[in-house]
Amino acid sequence: MIGIFGGTFDPIHFGHLRPAFEVFQDLGCEELRWIPSGQPPHRHSPNASIEHRLNMLRLALQGMKDVTIDECEIHRSGPSYMVDTLSSLRQRYPDSSLALILGTDAFNGLPGWHRWQELLPLAHIIVCSRPGVDLPEAGELSALLAGARVDDISRLQQSKHGLIYIHPVTALPISATRIREICAQGYSPRFLLPAKVCDYIEQHGLYRQEV
Ligand code: ATP
Repeated sequence: MIGIFGGTFDPIHFGHLRPAFEVFQDLGCEELRWIPSGQPPHRHSPNASIEHRLNMLRLALQGMKDVTIDECEIHRSGPSYMVDTLSSLRQRYPDSSLALILGTDAFNGLPGWHRWQELLPLAHIIVCSRPGVDLPEAGELSALLAGARVDDISRLQQSKHGLIYIHPVTALPISATRIREICAQGYSPRFLLPAKVCDYIEQHGLYRQEV
C-alpha cells in the first residue's frame, strides 16, 4: 500500500509529520509519498515560494526510508486537484493499494473538492483525527462513511481503493497558520517543527511579514 500525504506544507511541521508517520507504520505501507501542492485550489496562495516549501520538506524528511517527495503537482499547470494526482498515480501503480491520508478538517471539506466523488474509486481514504475537529454526523460525508468505513486494517490491503478508515493518531494541535503568526510576531517556532526546518526559516527570514 502506498500512503499519499498532500498539503501546502507552508511550512511542514510535526502535526503533519507524526500523524502521517503513524499511519505509514501502523498500516504497514511500503511507501509514504509527500505531495506538496503547487497551486492549492481551496485556499489563498502559499506564503513561502514552492522552492522554500520543497527545501523545508526535504530537510524534514532527510534520511527517512521508504519516503518520497512527489513533485507532480508542482510541474502540472493549473490548480492542484487531488483527483488528477490520484488518477496519474493509479495509472503508474495499477496493482497497488493507494491510501490518501487526510486530517479530519481536510476530510470534512471534501465536498468542496473538484470531482471529489471520483477520489474513492481511485484510492482508500485514511482520516487522521485532528484535535478539535469532529467527523460529520449528517450530510453527504456521513452517508459516504456509512457505506465505505471499515475498522479492520487488513481490509485495506485486500482491495486497491474504495474504503475509508479512521485512524486515531497522537493529537498535536499545531498548524502552519499558527507557525506563520509566531514568526510574524518576531518569535521562533522552534520545537513545533524539525530543528533543521526552523533553522531554514530563520536563515531565510521566512514568514516575518504576512500571515
Ligand atoms: P494551514 O494552517 O496553513 O491551513 P495546515 O497546518 O493545516 O496549514 P496543510 O498543509 O494545509 O497544513 O495540511 C495538509 C494536511 O495535513 C491536511 O490533510 C491536514 O488536515 C493535515 N494536518 C495539518 N495539521 C495537522 C495536525 N496538527 N494534526 C493532524 N493532521 C494535520
